[in-house]
Amino acid sequence: MQRAVKIRLLPTKEQEILFWKSAGTARWAYNYFLTANEQAYKEGRRITDGEVRKYITNVLKKTTHTWLKEVGSNVMKQGVKDANLALQRYIKGISGKPKFKSRRKSKISFYVNYESLVRRPNGFQGEKLGVVKTATALPKLPKGRKYANPHISFDGKHWYLSVSYEVEQKKVELTGESVGIDLGVKELAVVSNQDASRTKFYKNINKSAKVRRLEKKLRRAQRKASRKLEANSKSRDKNHRPIWKRPLRECRNIQRQNKAIRLLHKKLTDIRNNHLHQITAEIVKTKPSQIVMEDLNVKGMMKNKHLSKAIAKQKFYEFKRQMKYKAEMYGIKVVEADRFYASSKTCSHCGHIKKDLKLSDRTYVCPVCGAKLDRDLNAAINLANYKTA
Ligand SMILES: [Zn+2]
Repeated sequence: MQRAVKIRLLPTKEQEILFWKSAGTARWAYNYFLTANEQAYKEGRRITDGEVRKYITNVLKKTTHTWLKEVGSNVMKQGVKDANLALQRYIKGISGKPKFKSRRKSKISFYVNYESLVRRPNGFQGEKLGVVKTATALPKLPKGRKYANPHISFDGKHWYLSVSYEVEQKKVELTGESVGIDLGVKELAVVSNQDASRTKFYKNINKSAKVRRLEKKLRRAQRKASRKLEANSKSRDKNHRPIWKRPLRECRNIQRQNKAIRLLHKKLTDIRNNHLHQITAEIVKTKPSQIVMEDLNVKGMMKNKHLSKAIAKQKFYEFKRQMKYKAEMYGIKVVEADRFYASSKTCSHCGHIKKDLKLSDRTYVCPVCGAKLDRDLNAAINLANYKTA
């Protein structure tokens, strides 16, 4: 099966300039093909994208358009191909007549040569681009495999690399079991099978000493940065904005402080993501046939101010994203229980629904059968027993 990822890039100034040039070239090639085609049409001829590409490479690139050499070879090629594709779609009546791409309105993107694109420990290497650092690592591919359709785009703030690649479904014998996962703040995840014979509690990494120490460091660094900013502003204008003594970008000490803050943020993100990867990998390795999770109403939960920070740090969406794609690799079915399924209030032993269960009740005590167990474990068992309609 094919999977696609979009990874944020951390380009150098020089690379960013090259990105802009490449995007400009792709746009130029797109428009050039449309113009050439119109011209040919008027003269009663037909041209192919191959012809146009050859003309650009063999004539223009060597004479009047030598700047084409500055960017990757695929940038122009793919620009022409895209224009031809749009034209073919128009001819077949699938879409409207392709328009020229304007500098202001068109999407800023261009293709990277897939043959020479190689993964590197802190990013990737691409034709003419050198090693481009990325915010997260590219997925590892088996030897000899290539990323398909790599392209770089700009969203107004950041640059991204999009690639797709083939993932093989693992041939594994599944156990036939259903497991429920209850996500929370006290524990990150409580996992159980239907009869609770195998249960596991995964800790909330944000309560660990390591994370707490880093967060404290981060708060201190942020305070220090704002003090430095304060010291640099002598007075405020009529809109109460500070007037800086020197342009901010010249202030080395502020820059240094901001870099330290970014690094701390990155460290924390890495720790949290690694924790999620470990857990989701461990869960799929138990090879259940089905995984049931709640349909999280994260937005609703985030409204609670005290909880929202703690929930954001738990990265539930990321957990579910990882869980889904790893399960898919094993052929495990992932089910999201209906939002109104009372996984917390139902007794996992007798099915009684305890309407007055409070958020502060950490232990579930059933007034009917007397079952007494951890609240989140009770929810996980109920999720494992969830019946799809
Ligand atoms: Zn009960």
